Amino acid sequence: MMLDSISPGALKNEDEHRRDICTVGRWLLDRGFVAATDGNISLRLDPRRILTSPTNICKGMMALDDLVITDLDGQKLSGRRNASSELAMHLLIYRRRPDVNAVCHAHPLVATGYAAAGLPLNKALLSEAVLALGCVPVARYGTPGTPELTEAIEPLVQSYDALLMANHGVVTYGPDLLTAFFRMETTEHFARVALVTELLGKQVLLSSEDVEKLLAARIRYGLQTAATATAECPVTAETASTGRITLTRQELEALIEEAVQHDRARR
Ligand SMILES: [Zn+2]
Repeated sequence: MMLDSISPGALKNEDEHRRDICTVGRWLLDRGFVAATDGNISLRLDPRRILTSPTNICKGMMALDDLVITDLDGQKLSGRRNASSELAMHLLIYRRRPDVNAVCHAHPLVATGYAAAGLPLNKALLSEAVLALGCVPVARYGTPGTPELTEAIEPLVQSYDALLMANHGVVTYGPDLLTAFFRMETTEHFARVALVTELLGKQVLLSSEDVEKLLAARIRYGLQTAATATAECPVTAETASTGRITLTRQELEALIEEAVQHDRARR
């Protein structure tokens, strides 16, 4: 295997899983997705055991024996360090999503900016983002390391594979660690492109028909994601046009005047 790479799939031995978590930790640091000791990574070793990054360490500098094994209630089974302070969030995801075998949490700059602005990534701006993620909603704020945080993400875990955490960061998950990491990378890329379109002052959204075709392609490519398309997700050219609009005072007055004239003419 190439140095600094990981292969897809969740069926590996414990040593391979340890190596994968350390590699993904370096990737999170190299791509600027974490600062200092931020972020955490875990995976499901078997039905009863979770392998997780420890708390209070730079995720790009972890050694294989820094990792911690816990049970699904978060009780430490082995490891000299303490488990991630956000382990409860990871455990909630494993409990609610039997299809998930790996979880990635980080604070990538632009996606975290959207989370801090309370803005979901829910527009049909990029074909690849519609294919891979659908929408990325914002979970309400919860104090890190407390049950508040798990309660905040709980209503969304079942329906999405990537979540913005208000005033905090991003959590992504999937059937294996490579998929969970790719979803983190795609979320940040989606956020960067969305931001650039905001800066350009123009967004051309895909039509509902284009989105339908992408969803059909998702099945053809064998891509699996929990996010199903609804009237609001993703927002297409058609659904956006039935949404909120901005008018100047003059335009609003003209519209009211027109309606009044129309009404008079009918009497
Ligand atoms: Zn965090």
